[in-house]
Amino acid sequence: MKNSRKINGKIIFITGGVLSSLGKGIFAASLAFMFKERGLKVNMMKFDPYLNVDPGTISPIEHGEVFVTKDGGETDLDIGHYERFINQNLSKNSSISSGKIYRNLIEKERRGKYLGKTVQIIPHVINEIIDLILNNLKNNDLLIVEIGGTVGDIESIPYFEAIRQLQFERENVINIHIGFVPFLSINKEYKSKPFQHSIKELHSLGVFPNFLIVRTENKINNQEVFNKISINCGVNKEYILELENLPNVYQIPKKLMEEKIDQKIAKILNLKLINKNIEKYDLFNNLISYQNKDKLRIAIVGKYHNLKDSYLSIIESLKIISIYKKIDLKIDLLDSKSLDLKKLNNYSGIIISGGFGTDGTDGKIKTIKYARENNIPLLGICFGMQLLILEFANNVLNLNLYHQELNPEKKQKFIIHLLEDQDLKNFGGTMRLGEYECKIFPNTIASKIYKKDLINQRHRHRYEFNNQYKNILEKNGLVFSGINPQTNLVEIVEYPKNDFFIAVQFHPEFNTKIFKLDPLFESFIEASNNYGKKWKNNQER
Ligand code: GLN
Repeated sequence: MKNSRKINGKIIFITGGVLSSLGKGIFAASLAFMFKERGLKVNMMKFDPYLNVDPGTISPIEHGEVFVTKDGGETDLDIGHYERFINQNLSKNSSISSGKIYRNLIEKERRGKYLGKTVQIIPHVINEIIDLILNNLKNNDLLIVEIGGTVGDIESIPYFEAIRQLQFERENVINIHIGFVPFLSINKEYKSKPFQHSIKELHSLGVFPNFLIVRTENKINNQEVFNKISINCGVNKEYILELENLPNVYQIPKKLMEEKIDQKIAKILNLKLINKNIEKYDLFNNLISYQNKDKLRIAIVGKYHNLKDSYLSIIESLKIISIYKKIDLKIDLLDSKSLDLKKLNNYSGIIISGGFGTDGTDGKIKTIKYARENNIPLLGICFGMQLLILEFANNVLNLNLYHQELNPEKKQKFIIHLLEDQDLKNFGGTMRLGEYECKIFPNTIASKIYKKDLINQRHRHRYEFNNQYKNILEKNGLVFSGINPQTNLVEIVEYPKNDFFIAVQFHPEFNTKIFKLDPLFESFIEASNNYGKKWKNNQER
């Protein structure tokens, strides 16, 4: 039986109720940050109850961006929050979907590993979940596990059963449940009934939460609400914490520290915390509310403009840098499918995002042309780099070349193409994924930005620049300033005639941490800020 297995370390489960999008991931990340800053070795993971093997095949509009880990995992976007908050790279084992669990089990079953037994949810699926958890706990003091979705969803029941079994070890495992308490504007009252129901649901699955986090839009200021929750949910008020919306998510660790949640958890789990200096975080946190900031407007041009989460890591990378640089940053997502180019004059910098498929590429190419001709700072990411090259080849040099993803019927003259050994029979897991080296050539803008001749960056794409066209583009002013030393594939392109016109095949946004900024985004923000200052009354433009 798994529940009699000794747990080596401590586990905190984060579950949610009432509704989704309560910021469970950010809460989990903030908690992990606090414990890491207090001297513990921390790991984090998230379970997602959907049946896709990973989010790689899910459109960003459905589920937000696909975050890529260093080891090439296509993971849930919360893994990005975790990495940024705890300043630590995680592995693909940190993001597990039900699809992945079932695939593992079915593969084992096909190989005859169950020796004639019937394979069932209990015990096999639950044991697989517990194994994954205990593996991630190995060599760490603490593992924080977030369960995606909300309690009561049919598909997440196995995860709650795993918590129930593991909670046998009360001194090693706790559950923190986050639920929403809505405000009814008609009678001006906070309503805790849905919250209470979510706890009932949790109890019916055999899980008894140690802490309750009451998410609200504004501060409740009425102890009665908490008394009710305490009595009806069976949790002492000392362990109920209110978490209202804060202006900036990076203020949450501070708020949790003020509430001493770390000390309360440490007491239950018998954790030894070091009183480390959190000066670095305090500095960062103080900058968040700094007054007299420069105003800066940046546009991200892409086709997934309806959902900010589609570009989450880019947005967070820019936000984190703007905090350090004391900039009041406003980011707009512009729809590349229906773009009015004149709108671009309202921005001091443009990002051409990554993407897949033909939709909206015309708008992106037109944006690149406009930015090139008007010397507006531009940063192209992944698909953005491929389109920047295509635009230059066709609009500046009239080469009449194609991108194989956009015009597969052309059969040749591909300036962006698939490599010969690439197999496109499957969509899942057929990309260049994860971290690769990039060698940077001296005397280039990239070398000034990175101040290094070798960097490691994460990738997620199928197509590559066709080196056959390198010479002609170089002769005409494009500079290929970064390549992968093993394969010779192009990683960075720049156009030094403009003030800032750079594109990269990799995704720098997956490298940002709150204490480790990405130099490329930093330079982009600086260049955009300078460009903006050149224009008087930047805000009114
Ligand atoms: N669609 C392009 C490719 O597969 C770019 C992918 C991306 O932007 N992440 O190469």
